Amino acid sequence: MQNQFDILPISQWLPASAIPLVISGPCSAENHGQVLSTARQLARIPQVKVFRSGIWKPRTRPSRFEGVGIEGLKWLREVKAETGLLTTVEVAKASHIEDALKYGIDILWIGARTVVNPFSVQELAEVLKGVDIPVMVKNPLNPDVKLWLGALERLNSSGISKLIAVHRGFYYYKHSIYRNQPMWEIPIDLQRQVPGLPIICDPSHICGRRDLIQGVSQKALDLGMAGLMIESHIDPDVALTDAEQQVTPDVLAGIISNLIVRMPSGDKEFETHLEQLRREIDKMDAELIDILSRRMKIVEEIGQYKRHNNITILQIRRWSEIIHDRLNLGDKVGLHKDFLLRLLQLVHKESIRKQEEIMGLPDEEENEG
Ligand code: PEP
Ligand code: MN
Repeated sequence: MQNQFDILPISQWLPASAIPLVISGPCSAENHGQVLSTARQLARIPQVKVFRSGIWKPRTRPSRFEGVGIEGLKWLREVKAETGLLTTVEVAKASHIEDALKYGIDILWIGARTVVNPFSVQELAEVLKGVDIPVMVKNPLNPDVKLWLGALERLNSSGISKLIAVHRGFYYYKHSIYRNQPMWEIPIDLQRQVPGLPIICDPSHICGRRDLIQGVSQKALDLGMAGLMIESHIDPDVALTDAEQQVTPDVLAGIISNLIVRMPSGDKEFETHLEQLRREIDKMDAELIDILSRRMKIVEEIGQYKRHNNITILQIRRWSEIIHDRLNLGDKVGLHKDFLLRLLQLVHKESIRKQEEIMGLPDEEENEG
């Protein structure tokens, strides 16, 4: 299903040279010197068009640095006047929006911790009624595309049509090299549901460390994202927040120049070849769906049989054999083991759900919040 949105493409409200959009600046504004000197260096990188800075910082614990507040808005006003960079800050309360507008901030962003709370997002959307300002919406902390979509819908319903979604990764309970797991399938799903919506990537908060930023930025562009938001600091090691993930403007310039910006499509011959390959994929997907449906019908038969004979749904020995056998098969034809395992688990989960349905058990997946 596609959702009804009224979104203005960024090409209509930003200069063409600003695409792909690169936003950079410190995690937090700390003092006048740090803000101005970072901005001056960033302004020398032609691709950087927007200066970001946290003024009010959402911190896990209250004893930590919580941002400089309104004082920082004055520094951002100076940045804009001196460098010509547009400015953006995170807003989490109605009063933040009022202050940001008072100081001429160009773009607002709503952070991951705010997007999880529909009450807060609605409050911000109310204040923005009748205000013509672009708003960037970060994904919520938890991997829930509906919550992200809901926040965008609330703002769009308030008349905000200059919208950008920011992919900053998701909380994940398992350890990983990333601070926040990218779960690329979620922004891709958002793009499918809201086709005209620009999505940019925030590799800094995904990675949590400098050395991974280049790779994640490239991947974001390869997936067709419209830009990047990367944190930078004049002296990252002494930054008051997110020190490990901030880079100097010089390092940022290197990251940008190493990026390969590919085109969304190629010439006629390329398109024709691509079209042929896509048609083959379409056919195979139809076969795959047919096979899955036939497999499920057999599962149904098994379920009926088990019900009549009063036998448990899950038979762990059988399941272990399936995994072992299928992973061996997959290995022979070069399928990635993790991929196949996840696919088998998904198919198995659905088989169990079907059999539970047959046994008359409640559906655990029904609750959609
Ligand atoms: C930030 O951009 O500094 C920030 C706090 O991000 P997020 O809301 O994605 O954690
Ligand atoms: Mn940060």
